[in-house]
Amino acid sequence: MIEIQNVRKSFASLEVLKGINLTVDKGEVVSIIGGSGSGKSTLLTCINGLEPINAGKITIDGTEVHAKSTDLNKLRRKVGIVFQQWNAFPHLTVLENVMLAPRKVLGMAKAKAEEIAVKQLSHVGLAEKLSVYPTRMSGGQQQRMAIARALAMSPEYMLFDEVTSALDPMLVGEVLDTLKMLAEEGMTMICVTHEMAFARDVSNRVAFFHQGVMAEIGTPDQLFGAPQNPETQKFLASVR
Ligand code: ATP
Ligand code: MG
Repeated sequence: MIEIQNVRKSFASLEVLKGINLTVDKGEVVSIIGGSGSGKSTLLTCINGLEPINAGKITIDGTEVHAKSTDLNKLRRKVGIVFQQWNAFPHLTVLENVMLAPRKVLGMAKAKAEEIAVKQLSHVGLAEKLSVYPTRMSGGQQQRMAIARALAMSPEYMLFDEVTSALDPMLVGEVLDTLKMLAEEGMTMICVTHEMAFARDVSNRVAFFHQGVMAEIGTPDQLFGAPQNPETQKFLASVR
């Protein structure tokens, strides 16, 4: 379970998260939508400890992310994150790229790391691309490789930050299908997304962020069907 309690975060004098409260249960899929600069990405980087927070608390299965005693490397193995773009190592094959973290971070034996990498690449539909170099793949394939790379660490939670927004519209579907598959398998996920149909279709709950505040949260039917907050209504009207 991810518990976010009254989290505040500032960059210098700019307060970007103004008291966020959110609990994500095991197996739940929560999508975060909202305008540019509303704090969505910042929240994800706070959840896996890439950024410090100024107040409040984030705990993952009872471990406080920002406590001094917390082993962040250990925590990050549990919480995978995939961004808009991931720069794969161009001189390594797809398989080698995905094997890298299990080898280096987990100290896994080569054969075992390879077995896991093949399994995860097959899982995201890239079984045919093992020996290809990343630059020879499409954007959608590269994003699926990035997802396989995160999955190779056997995370219990996955954070996705607009993983389709740098893609050609033609390639968005295959990546969203991969996310949907993970959701159906029971992965606990927080997805920052601009894809409203995806958020509606796949999430248990959808949160709308506005100027550093979680202005509204509810089931997809509630949030898309009957938004209560005028800012949510305005935002949804603008993206439809
Ligand atoms: P988008 O939809 O455009 O990705 P977002 O909701 O993800 O937006 P954030 O990236 O979380 O927004 O940014 C929130 C605010 O914090 C913005 O005003 C941004 O300029 C600022 N910000 C983010 N990262 C930093 C940083 N490292 N240093 C200073 N300011 C930052
Ligand atoms: Mg962002």
